[in-house]
Amino acid sequence: MSVAPRTDGVLVDRFGRVARDLRVSLTDKCNLRCTYCMPAEGLPWLAGPELLTDAEIVRLVRVAVERLGVTEVRFTGGEPLIRPGLVGIVAAVAALEPRPRISLTTNGIGLDRLAPALRTAGLDRVNVSLDTLDPDRFAQLTRRARLDAVLAGLAGAAAAGLNPVKINSVLMRGVNEDEAPALLRFAVDHDYQLRIIEQMPLDAQHGWDRSTMVTAEEILASLRTRFVLSPDPAERGAAPAETWLVDGGPARVGVIASVTRPFCGDCDRTRLTADGQVRACLFATEESDLRAALRAGADDDDLARRWRTAMWGKRAGHGIDDPTFLQPTRPMSAIGG
Ligand code: SAM
Ligand code: SF4
Repeated sequence: MSVAPRTDGVLVDRFGRVARDLRVSLTDKCNLRCTYCMPAEGLPWLAGPELLTDAEIVRLVRVAVERLGVTEVRFTGGEPLIRPGLVGIVAAVAALEPRPRISLTTNGIGLDRLAPALRTAGLDRVNVSLDTLDPDRFAQLTRRARLDAVLAGLAGAAAAGLNPVKINSVLMRGVNEDEAPALLRFAVDHDYQLRIIEQMPLDAQHGWDRSTMVTAEEILASLRTRFVLSPDPAERGAAPAETWLVDGGPARVGVIASVTRPFCGDCDRTRLTADGQVRACLFATEESDLRAALRAGADDDDLARRWRTAMWGKRAGHGIDDPTFLQPTRPMSAIGG
């Protein structure tokens, strides 16, 4: 294997993985305060000039698509729906050649209103985060009483044709750990695809505790009390979710066991933060500052070269189980989940 990053072509790392899936954080701000993500008072947000402008985001995505072989672009945050230029950014990315697939991870608030415009602009799919169907629990978990808005957002996304609409859920012990079957019933009944994610050490408060995390094994056991789950014959590829057919199909459910069954060996992701830093991994401790390069006048070739170098250094795995594991300084909301 070569010992230096390639000077042209795709984003390959020293272990031979190729990153084709770009996650772009559009803002670190959010209108919810999920307890597993950020504290009640919020965080010191990035200042306006630190954020990439809409044009800078589109330029960097264009470099990724045209020069680095990126074929999937997902917008996230923070809460991407609160970025004023979102529809225009999606439209500009949809006009790139070759056109990437475009998706959005959102808490769903305001999606009922925005979904038609996003669909028209070229958005293909959405993932809506929803951890509970109980209004009181929702208010406890997100510190805002907005369950109705999220449910309206889900319905609006489906009505606008952003299918398949996926739901991302995180279970927390003592809060909503018993809710996996109810969430799956709701998803199956509405033709949404549920994916339950193991909680990761990415909260700003550093409160994650492996010993209290609800594991994939527990999630599956809980689902099996109400449903028959059989292995999904579809190819998993680089998808983080392991999927099962529900009661013989065609409905499916996914479990993302980032902690107990890491899929780092198949990872095909590269990340761009709202302030223009490339990260090779959610758990990376290094970043590469494309914003500084871009604002200093770097041309597209130079930006592409820096991005390749950043990805070449991607570690083999996240190392959550290593005794030396260090949680990244940036919380999930500032990286882009
Ligand atoms: N605000 C949007 C949302 O909630 O979908 C996008 C950003 S959010 C950081 C992206 C995803 O990360 C959400 O599905 C959320 O549930 C998940 N998430 C946040 N903190 C997490 C943690 N500590 N462990 C696992 N997933 C987490
Ligand atoms: Fe906001 Fe998403 Fe974090 Fe919840 S998980 S606080 S919705 S960024």
